[in-house]
Amino acid sequence: MRSAGEKKLYRFFKNLDRSLFIDNEYKAYAHIDSALPIGHGQTISQPSLVYTMTLRLELNKELKVLEVGTGSGYQTAFLAEFAGEVYTVERIEELSIKAKQRLESLGYRNIFYKIGDGSMGWQEHQPFDRIIVTAAAVRIPDPLLGQLKPGGKMIIPVGSRGIQNLLLINKDQNGRITSEALEPVLFVELKGSYGWSKDYDMENP
Ligand code: SAM
Repeated sequence: MRSAGEKKLYRFFKNLDRSLFIDNEYKAYAHIDSALPIGHGQTISQPSLVYTMTLRLELNKELKVLEVGTGSGYQTAFLAEFAGEVYTVERIEELSIKAKQRLESLGYRNIFYKIGDGSMGWQEHQPFDRIIVTAAAVRIPDPLLGQLKPGGKMIIPVGSRGIQNLLLINKDQNGRITSEALEPVLFVELKGSYGWSKDYDMENP
């Protein structure tokens, strides 16, 4: 049986038109439950996975969230709808600008945008109650663990290029970290200082 919060999220998930976040030939496939290309070799996430990740973050309007990987802004809309403030970082300028335009035209005013390396977090605005990483990490970036509030949660896909485990990280009041593997997933790579780098792949620095 779904809680009231879960019902609200489900309604939002069903009503948000994903085609608003796609402006290429894949727009016609927006209703399909799969990731789709958005240019620059990046993808808009699979709707059911966006739903699950949002649900597992247990959001409310008091919370400050860091999102790493704005992409199309589709996941960002879920965060902005159910959290207090969203700080979203995207390394590709064009994607960040387009996402901002879409989210502003949908009326969201609680989102702060940054173009840069989100694997470093967003130092000036830490600590965060929640952190969501929407690109595949080779390990959990240390700065993100450091910028997570005691009592906070982080959701992040960690693994190899071919497959990752979606991890739900909890930081208790003493700063102790525990991790739960939720499901196998497939995301594009997290780049940057704490992402995939020369150390991990000489062909794709
Ligand atoms: N959740 C997004 C959506 O719904 O459209 C999709 C995100 S896409 C799977 C991953 C995004 O992470 C890409 O846009 C990519 O450019 C971005 N990214 C990868 N590494 C990054 C980094 N170090 N800092 C910021 N963004 C990064």
